[in-house]
Amino acid sequence: MENYFKIIPIAEDIYHLYEPGGVGSTLIIGKEQALLIDTGYGFADIRGTVAYLTSLPVRVVNTHGHTDHAGGNRFFHKVWMNPADKATYKDYQKHQKPLIAARFEGIRKAAGKRDIWPEDFDRMAWYQADTEEFYWLINGQTFDLDAPADLYDQTFEFDAPKDENHLIEAIFIPGHTVGSVMFFDWKSHILFPGDDLDYSLWMHFNTSAPLYTYKNNLKILERYPIEGILPAHKKQLLSPWILKRMPIAIENLSIEKSRRFFHPRTGEPGFLYKEPLMGESPDGIDTIYITYQTNNM
Ligand SMILES: [Zn+2]
Repeated sequence: MENYFKIIPIAEDIYHLYEPGGVGSTLIIGKEQALLIDTGYGFADIRGTVAYLTSLPVRVVNTHGHTDHAGGNRFFHKVWMNPADKATYKDYQKHQKPLIAARFEGIRKAAGKRDIWPEDFDRMAWYQADTEEFYWLINGQTFDLDAPADLYDQTFEFDAPKDENHLIEAIFIPGHTVGSVMFFDWKSHILFPGDDLDYSLWMHFNTSAPLYTYKNNLKILERYPIEGILPAHKKQLLSPWILKRMPIAIENLSIEKSRRFFHPRTGEPGFLYKEPLMGESPDGIDTIYITYQTNNM
């Protein structure tokens, strides 16, 4: 259990807690409080790993409602989320959890490996577990990690001096899901996009924003001094380059250049486009993958 989460240091006081299911949650530690971005699948209690890294009060936010980012909400009393992802969260709670468990079981059995969850994992409790209480995020809201937690609860700061305190800003970028939120750290200048920006971009969900709307939404990020990007499913920091390159890949995409795609778990149909990068990427990644639906462009 102790090694269930791999602790990956990203920058000073920033840790990516990566779990065997292939997803990471990020802990950012300030002077007075810490922020946990996402909570993982919830197969194991992420709170213990967080407590090992900091004794400060911890606020918890979700980048979106998918279970691999919000499944561990059950270990915390209150979690912040964009209300636009409430429906996605509920759908995953009700319908996707059994499919997720079955798929992991199948994959592990086929590979002759043990299950992905720890030995004391109670599957029925996990199916039924829900977020105790949500706080609804507001676009542009900041969390000040240098401010005492007890003074903070009902405070929203939009125009606080960004160089004096350790502010993390919530930026709404509908894309991967309509309620996807990216978080920008004004101290480290790292962007935490969840699943909303990566070399593999999944946009074929019924709850994804239209593809070209997403492409336009990325322009919002131009005013932020982004120096690195940490997608939830990556284990290391990416260059901001992908932010400039993604809109071009979306422009280049067409049905003729795509192939039929079915979501490996749900069978949801869509299209898959692959954009070869010919050695351009400073991250050493050779392809951008985009899944999408033709009726949601
Ligand atoms: Zn997702």
